[in-house]
Amino acid sequence: MVAEIKFCLPVGKWWFLSPYAEFPIKMEVDGKFYTFSTVEHYYQAMKFYASDERFDVIRNLATSDEARVMTKKPEYKISRRVDFDKHKFDIMEQGLRAKFMQHPEAAKMLKATGDVVLIKSCPICYKCGFGEGSGENRMGKILMKIRDELKSNCFHTPSSL
Ligand SMILES: [Zn+2]
Repeated sequence: MVAEIKFCLPVGKWWFLSPYAEFPIKMEVDGKFYTFSTVEHYYQAMKFYASDERFDVIRNLATSDEARVMTKKPEYKISRRVDFDKHKFDIMEQGLRAKFMQHPEAAKMLKATGDVVLIKSCPICYKCGFGEGSGENRMGKILMKIRDELKSNCFHTPSSL
């Protein structure tokens, strides 16, 4: 086994670790359930209230990259959830945990990485949130925490019931 795993885009051997990988998640937001095609779609949509039409626009974009770019537009920036920045790490963690709880095959692949250090890494990641560098590898740390939970059965995926 390798000493560390570097991941980012949903390509190659570690594609399933990517927040951009297509593992639809069903999440409760502001009292209603919504489906997001990737964890990234969920994270980006959560910058807005579910009652805001922008929430659904983001949610329904074809790619997570489009979703990310859309939230940077001035007409989007003005109506963000006031507490998004305060909760963004929790939001990402909820999205990632839902992905592995709702997709046993993804959980199995994550568990199979054993104790190897997971690092979200690419030249772009290096300068922004959650990746290696300024993001302090927060995403890798969240994934390792979820992996520990899976190993100790602190939460149960449908296949382990
Ligand atoms: Zn990256």
